[in-house]
Amino acid sequence: MSSADVFALVSPVNTEVVTSPVRFNFQNTYVRLPERFYSRVNPTPVAAPGLVKVNEDLARSLGLDPTELSSPEGVAILAGSRVADGSEPLAIAYAGHQFGHFVAQLGDGRANLLGEVMGLDGVRYDLQLKGSGPTPFSRNGDGRASLGSVLREYIVSEAMAALGVPTTRALAAVTTGESIYRETMLPGAVLTRVAASHLRVGTFQYFAARNDTQGVRILADYAIARHYPEAASAKRPYLALLEGVISRHAQLVAQWVLLGFVHGVMNTDNTSISGETIDYGPCAFMEAFDPDMVFSSIDRQGRYAYSNQPRAALWNLTRLAETLLPILDENPDTSLASAKEALSTFDPQFEMARLAGLRRKLGLVTEREGDLPLAEQLLASMAANDADFTLTFRRLSDVAGGSADDTVRTLFADPRAYDSWAAAWRSRLAEEPISAQERAAIMRRANPAFIPRNHRVEAVIEAAVERQDFQPFEEMLDVVSHPYEDRPELERYTTPARPEECVRQTFCGT
Ligand code: AMP
Ligand code: MG
Repeated sequence: MSSADVFALVSPVNTEVVTSPVRFNFQNTYVRLPERFYSRVNPTPVAAPGLVKVNEDLARSLGLDPTELSSPEGVAILAGSRVADGSEPLAIAYAGHQFGHFVAQLGDGRANLLGEVMGLDGVRYDLQLKGSGPTPFSRNGDGRASLGSVLREYIVSEAMAALGVPTTRALAAVTTGESIYRETMLPGAVLTRVAASHLRVGTFQYFAARNDTQGVRILADYAIARHYPEAASAKRPYLALLEGVISRHAQLVAQWVLLGFVHGVMNTDNTSISGETIDYGPCAFMEAFDPDMVFSSIDRQGRYAYSNQPRAALWNLTRLAETLLPILDENPDTSLASAKEALSTFDPQFEMARLAGLRRKLGLVTEREGDLPLAEQLLASMAANDADFTLTFRRLSDVAGGSADDTVRTLFADPRAYDSWAAAWRSRLAEEPISAQERAAIMRRANPAFIPRNHRVEAVIEAAVERQDFQPFEEMLDVVSHPYEDRPELERYTTPARPEECVRQTFCGT
């Protein structure tokens, strides 16, 4: 069955009488793929579903009614205690390289794909419950998620969306009324995640590892239909698919590094085919700039350190290319040569996207040879002087608009390091055709004031877990949802952790 057939099989659910008061209008395609692609399994009902948050704007953009979702019936569905009309819950099969080691079967061990809905933008989206109970892929896990990890993913994924980075989104968070055991007892929760799809590099690896070339082909057709429709009419559609994924990840990782974001677990099972950031675990935004920054407690070798991220992405894309070799071309030599050539475009695409982003961050609208060295000098100086990544660039935007240098230079351990760089920057700005005001406006759109700073996220989690106080969560969500606005009354969210507040590590604590 080709992917076109799969999409043709979908009949709109809404033509029938709707009995549930919560209308989703599911139009499912993944469940129409061969049975070996997934396991049909319902979420496990929980003791006491409790609403934390429904993302009202996102709900409306998916044609969903936030009031219905927040009703007792809606919350029961979001907790996995009820199955909505039209939902055909399943756990997706996938494999993956975890920290370089291949595991032939991972799969959704604590997630259920509820189904797919059409957004008002015409795009098909997956609705997935994460933390919704065991599945055939759970291995020894309990299938659950902790409230802390759910709130972290909610905040950081919504922050990324507001920052303009392709990402899965958070539609809702609910508590389960059950405790789960990690290192201690923790409250359980379920996140409703929205994704362009949950296809991963690991999904391709699942079939490749079984020498199931037909499975790889069906999956590739599905990925093309859903994410890279233009590849369908290319001379070599599967090569065009590979090139598309490479291109989107080059752009994606460039956006991460331009924001000081460290994903933390760039395993192939956490690498999306759509090019979205997915599976927020021990991720974090840097404060003081450090190219070697690692937050994850399990990443002891620094495999996924800040500046290793492009290399890790290319490694993952190379694993994707390997799975596609049997279908890229009839001639294995041609397949290999094409895959290598496609992969060789990653670095230049990443570097180009990064340089374009650095120019925006520095307020440069024209291109000069020396722009990259100028930006690298600033970054090196920030690293040597423990300058806060986000604050340096944001305040530089104000300096471009006429503020005093002091607001930036005091961020550097040795402010003179900034002075010498600023002189070079100013002489470069003198060659630019735009006004200081225009430049400041461009820079403010490239340099956020608000990121989800780690100690703030930890404080949000602590208030929720220890005191059932969700007010800090609400406030933080509001803050990171408008990252490029100046909001003087919220200045405390812009400043780095004091030494005693500093969170150097995030735990999988999932
Ligand atoms: P993650 O680290 O969340 O990306 O998950 C890696 C793999 O472990 C995936 O196959 C997950 O489904 C599985 N997994 C993680 N946590 C649990 C859990 N509590 N119960 C069952 N499976 C889990
Ligand atoms: Mg994962």
